[in-house]
Amino acid sequence: MIGMNLELSEEQTAVRQLARDFVDREIVPHAVAWDRAEEVDRAIVKKLGEVGFLGLTIDEEYGGSGGDHLAYCLVTEELGRGDSSVRGIVSVSLGLVAKTIAAWGSEEQKRRWLPGLTAGEYVGCFGLTEPGTGSDAGNLTTRAVRDDGSTSRSSGAESGGDYVINGTKMFITNGTWADVVLLFARSTDAPGHKGVSAFLVPTDTPGLTRRTLHGKLGLRGQATAELVLEDVRVPASALLGEEGKGFSVAMSALAKGRMSVAAGCVGIAQAALDAAVRYAGEREQFGRTIAHHQLVQELISDIAVDVDAARLLTWRVADLIDRGLPFAVESSKAKLFASEAAVRAANNALQVFGGYGYIDEYPAGKLLRDARVMTLYEGTSQIQKLVIGRALTGVSAF
Ligand code: FAD
Repeated sequence: MIGMNLELSEEQTAVRQLARDFVDREIVPHAVAWDRAEEVDRAIVKKLGEVGFLGLTIDEEYGGSGGDHLAYCLVTEELGRGDSSVRGIVSVSLGLVAKTIAAWGSEEQKRRWLPGLTAGEYVGCFGLTEPGTGSDAGNLTTRAVRDDGSTSRSSGAESGGDYVINGTKMFITNGTWADVVLLFARSTDAPGHKGVSAFLVPTDTPGLTRRTLHGKLGLRGQATAELVLEDVRVPASALLGEEGKGFSVAMSALAKGRMSVAAGCVGIAQAALDAAVRYAGEREQFGRTIAHHQLVQELISDIAVDVDAARLLTWRVADLIDRGLPFAVESSKAKLFASEAAVRAANNALQVFGGYGYIDEYPAGKLLRDARVMTLYEGTSQIQKLVIGRALTGVSAF
């Protein structure tokens, strides 16, 4: 925290205002309908691209809109305030996929994918989890086998051979919408995560099929999917980073991704606070507004403290990244606290709304449903505690 500048620059303030206006105009009026329909309007992705929110932190040379990680957090927070489904689409397509290509990709890969992803013409998804491996992602079983091309070489394949990939990925955000999947597969016989490599696989590649998972508790507007790969053939140039370094690619993506989840949680908690304060000032019981009742004020003040604490932890991660300092453990702390805080805040807001909190014409129920998954994905709360505990004790308890 030492040396952290809590004042926003003019540019950051302007980006936040732009995001507030965009979210209030393009997202808030539709969020409940998208939730009920189990799909956000796909046109929102193009609009997010046009306003530059899918290109934050990416170089303009590749179609990005530049900016620092604090600006990225501010926009993500506003998106989370408006609709976590939309926030998640951005956090994955930009945060986990485009930013990872920018960090690890070859010049050819950057030119192939980044302009489309930042413009919102393409959507990206991140394929790490499998039916049998979630927290223990390093033991994934999807296999990528090198084929020297002596048989059935695909057209356009190059020297160095193709990879033929088989396996199943589970719970993939944007899965059925995506044009490209950043896919993690075991490509050597090295044990555990050392055998994992990262690949950029176009989703129209023959052999890749997708199935949307319905009936989610929250984030209903998002296309969460199962991906099945049967003899999916990609050229060697699809490899992102070096062979066997895929787990490092995944972990570096998730370290920054956790900050993005935390920022989205700040947005949920802020939305819970705004809604609870507004309602408490309108609803009357016992002859006065419920804002007059001390125990209602307790609920509201608990939300307010959670908002501030989550925001400060999240901004600290952005500040560390922007200053080029180590941030991974702080990102785990921010994600752990902000996700649990968002659940608490939404639950407290629901209590302020009483019975009306339980029906979806009022915002608290959706906030709570959307918040709940934040303690699960990109590393459960238990996994964040193991990351933090390892850093403090030097002992890996995984
Ligand atoms: P498990 O790993 O089976 O965990 C079950 C329980 O055991 C948890 O409480 C966990 O904390 C606990 N546990 C496990 N190991 C330990 C341990 N060592 N010590 C203590 N407790 C432990 N994945 C992707 O790759 N890409 C995506 O885009 C993506 N999007 C998702 C979207 C949604 C809506 C959901 C629900 C999931 C998504 N995921 C995605 C998957 C998500 O990251 C996993 O669900 C998560 O990592 C947990 O894995 P699991 O569900 O297999 O639970």
